[in-house]
Amino acid sequence: MKLEQLLETNVKKYGEYPMLYFQEKQFTNIETKRISDRFAAGLRKQGIGEGDRVMVILPNCPEVIFSYQAINRAGAIIVPVMFTLHPKEIHYIVAKSGVKAIITSSFVLEKVRSAVQDLDFQPAIIAVDVPTGNDVLNFYDVLVDNNNKIGIPNTTNENDTAVILYTSGTTGSPKGVLLTHKNLYTNAENSAKHNETERGTTLGVLPLAHVYGLTVSNITMLLGSAIVIFPSFNIIEVFAAIEKHRVRTFSAVPAMIHAMLSYPDSDKFDTSSLESVSSGSAPLPVALLHAFQSKFNADVYEGYGLSEAAPIVTAHRKGIQIKPGSVGIPIPGVEIKIVDENGNNLPVGEVGELIVRGDNVTQGYYNNPEETEKILMDGWLHTGDMARLDNEGYLYIVDRKKDLIIRGGFNLYPRDVEEILNRHEAVSEASVIGIPDERMGEEMVACVVKKEGSEVCAEELIGYCQEHLAKNKTPRQILFMEALPRNGVGKILKTHLRQTAADIIS
Ligand code: ATP
Repeated sequence: MKLEQLLETNVKKYGEYPMLYFQEKQFTNIETKRISDRFAAGLRKQGIGEGDRVMVILPNCPEVIFSYQAINRAGAIIVPVMFTLHPKEIHYIVAKSGVKAIITSSFVLEKVRSAVQDLDFQPAIIAVDVPTGNDVLNFYDVLVDNNNKIGIPNTTNENDTAVILYTSGTTGSPKGVLLTHKNLYTNAENSAKHNETERGTTLGVLPLAHVYGLTVSNITMLLGSAIVIFPSFNIIEVFAAIEKHRVRTFSAVPAMIHAMLSYPDSDKFDTSSLESVSSGSAPLPVALLHAFQSKFNADVYEGYGLSEAAPIVTAHRKGIQIKPGSVGIPIPGVEIKIVDENGNNLPVGEVGELIVRGDNVTQGYYNNPEETEKILMDGWLHTGDMARLDNEGYLYIVDRKKDLIIRGGFNLYPRDVEEILNRHEAVSEASVIGIPDERMGEEMVACVVKKEGSEVCAEELIGYCQEHLAKNKTPRQILFMEALPRNGVGKILKTHLRQTAADIIS
């Protein structure tokens, strides 16, 4: 199946119903399809067709969903980009992906204009809320009726690239992950099957520009569900939407779960409909899982994925035991193994690199055979994540290979220390990194945000870690910070943190 068929099939199967809510607006599935079809025809008229790349750089809004459906329907490839990126980062992606058009809004337009300067090609700029002018076309002016069906349906098939997703670059330069229709479609289908997700209304709190948010919207269409989308994570709007739409389940990242838990007025809203929240994209501290479950009487299902696996690999779900600290079991159609440096299978309980195989796995990075070779070997995707399995097949992510701290020749996993610090009553958040050290090679530093109104000193926190961990596994230094640097999806930017810590300490 191809992604543009999601909406087609949805309409045939479920008839007309309200599918998309955004602020005061709502769109039925048929209205969504009509606008998407007219935009697809408009894109064809602008000369965009099979294999062309089209960037979508917008805060969540209905036009993101219209654009995604339309771009694929026109035969072109979606390049979703977080609107929070710096113009230089946008420029990098525009130049590398060679997009023919950029779909954006007034809020991001100046960044886009500066990102397209000095290119040797000029992409068309289409903005959802700017009148057509010198260098911009209004989104709605591009729509055309396509009664004579020119160029549609397109000639692509399910093994063609549907999306090029640039990784957020938390571990280096962004790379364009190629995802086919089949990769994304089967992953959405298998995750819905795994979770036994029922038809209902969910929340689109994750950015649609991120693979996890994109998949949530695909699952919505697949199941005949509805989605409330938000331009940003506004805690009051989120609680209000849970109450209004009697939301039973939605997907989030740990930073959002943390924000919901910390919000002092949550009891002013009726959240009794909430049965579960899925968490992924970054480690979910065990203390946070327990606190959320007991406050909201809702399960937290932690899962694991990565852009290169379109994205979901494992997850907890209804009907299986929740093992805090684990990321659950593989979803249908996905195989996993833990291997050593030579690619040999490791026994249960041993830590090694996690590798993944299935219809969801990427064909590689766009125009980047060198990086592709590093991750794809004999049909297996090498994730760069260190992990272990237990005897019931539950997966535990130990840490990213690149975040591992090697102090005096010993491998130390930041996650172990983060878990302990997150349990301390004065700690709101903690992130542990390695910084260069002349004597030990690397030294462990913990960056800590205190809970509002709490007081604690570095010695106390180091002592607390020593109570729970071997002395050589505890941080040597604690840096107190106002906030931790995060990317657009709430993931801690350890590269930035390492730099900041090294600057403060030197
Ligand atoms: P880059 O690859 O450039 O650093 P990125 O981290 O944003 O960018 P994603 O594909 O969004 O790329 O993230 C995938 C990574 O997120 C995984 O490889 C893993 O390290 C981490 N991750 C995802 N879910 C979890 C989880 N539940 N627990 C721990 N880590 C997770």
